[in-house]
Amino acid sequence: MRNTCTDSAGWKSIDEMNSELIECVACPRLVKFREEVAQRYKRYRERFWSRPVPGFGDISGRILILGLAPAPAGGNRTGRVFTGDRSSDFLVSCLHEVGITNKPTSESRDDGLQYRDAYITAAVKCVPPDNRPEREEMERCSRYLDYEICSMGNLKAVVALGSIAFSAFKSYAKRRGADTRGMRFEHGKSYSVLGVRLFCLYHPSPRNVNTGKLTRDAFIRGLKEVLQYVSAQDK
Ligand code: SF4
Repeated sequence: MRNTCTDSAGWKSIDEMNSELIECVACPRLVKFREEVAQRYKRYRERFWSRPVPGFGDISGRILILGLAPAPAGGNRTGRVFTGDRSSDFLVSCLHEVGITNKPTSESRDDGLQYRDAYITAAVKCVPPDNRPEREEMERCSRYLDYEICSMGNLKAVVALGSIAFSAFKSYAKRRGADTRGMRFEHGKSYSVLGVRLFCLYHPSPRNVNTGKLTRDAFIRGLKEVLQYVSAQDK
């Protein structure tokens, strides 16, 4: 995928974008919630991050893993996306099994975790109440996601974790002029759009995992399909 970031906010790099991102207060409801939510998790003694959570990993990688938003005591606590909660435990353990991460756990910003050939981020950078960002909040935050995507000059595959992440990428594609009619989230399904392959996988939330909606085997199978697709692009 060849992108340009010319219609972005004028950032010159992801680092520059992130410097602005972590100070963002554009969504009053989410700013309030991200600060209040720490009070509900008294068992953690450390100070919560309680700010927008930047993406993480290899921005020059070929795979984008796209989640919904930081979790209250995960990314919102630790300051790193998919870090320090049960969704992260499941996700990173599976990513490690297929070789995308160097270790099977994601606990804190200084735990040495590395992503290989992949970058992970969320559609909305602040934790929303009940995991449900409002449409206006998603639209407002899309400028950051747009810049992340357009910075991935080698992008070949996007893994949408759940329907909201899927919708966020679909909206990005629409903004870039793609015809997205007929594209619906369905676990295991994939679409070609804007020269990349968009894969749908259920979000690895405790609810999906505990109810058996998402099994480890099914998730790993999905990740392997992504890796096979990306490898095939080299041939
Ligand atoms: S959700 Fe995005 S746009 Fe809204 S305050 Fe957080 S970082 Fe800013």
